[in-house]
Amino acid sequence: MSEIQPDPDVLPPWQQSLRTTAAETIAAGRLGQAVLFTATPGAGVGRLAASVAGALICRTPDTAGYACGQCQSCRLFLAGTHPDLARLTPAEAGGDIKVDQVRAFAETMRLTPHYPNGRIGWIEPLDRLNRSAANSALKILEEPPSSSVILAVTERPSAILPTIASRFTIWRLPPPTPETGRAWLGSQGADAAALDDDSLRTPLSTAERMQDEYSRWVDRWDADLARLLAGRASVSGVAERAQEAPPAIWLDWLYRRVNAILMHRLGVTDDASLPERLAASIAVGDLIQWQALAARVTEAARFRYSNADWQLVMESVLLKLEVMARQTTNSQWPNRI
Ligand SMILES: [Zn+2]
Repeated sequence: MSEIQPDPDVLPPWQQSLRTTAAETIAAGRLGQAVLFTATPGAGVGRLAASVAGALICRTPDTAGYACGQCQSCRLFLAGTHPDLARLTPAEAGGDIKVDQVRAFAETMRLTPHYPNGRIGWIEPLDRLNRSAANSALKILEEPPSSSVILAVTERPSAILPTIASRFTIWRLPPPTPETGRAWLGSQGADAAALDDDSLRTPLSTAERMQDEYSRWVDRWDADLARLLAGRASVSGVAERAQEAPPAIWLDWLYRRVNAILMHRLGVTDDASLPERLAASIAVGDLIQWQALAARVTEAARFRYSNADWQLVMESVLLKLEVMARQTTNSQWPNRI
């Protein structure tokens, strides 16, 4: 589910053209009272619709047709508490929109608005109206109160009943080209080098998936680092798992962990800067060793796109960690699992 976020800076480049058209249409007074924004999943159609909602609700939109982000209406909108914004969304993620919710939505839409811009109705996703809810929604969609606008969002237009779809002006957001998707993912800090075209055409879903995958990697790597520094893991096993991800991602993670431990040893930061499972690792090795390791990791960044050198660099860093662990836990070494 997308957040309602009118900041134009967050609109990805493939949405800009349709957003400009929307601004021109609003300026010409031709938007209509019921607009359905649709796109294939992963193109981020909710963001585009939210940007339009923000512009409609703003008291002082800029000349390009974007919300100012500063006025009282914008602040209420950004906080999710604007009194003239009526939301109709499933009560639970993935669930249906129920008939009772539609009735409450219609009642709210008919109340006198607090601000002269009028009421904005937000239905997301429109395809989650079940049959009785859809029947109940027909009336408010046929005759929206004057000065109100209903914006709806869907990534599954074929799941919408024709009687409902016919009430809306439909705006289709084209998916980005693979090149555009790759550039955008890169700008978000994702490594898009190995992605296929389908993933590149659905960059928002891909970014979400990569974020999940990244969390899982970091979880495993943190566990490995803790075990390596406790003298309970082998360099080869840790190196193997490090190679599940692109080198740059692993190196970035290691850089942050080594520097967090070093800063802690220097007394600059406290425990909160490290995951709890690494708390015991702080005591391993001496300050000189951590400083040398931090320098080595920084230097290793130069090799991260060169596969031939990468393996050696990674293992040399891990071996240094192993030596530090061995010196600290020499009584039980080796005790690998
Ligand atoms: Zn504003």
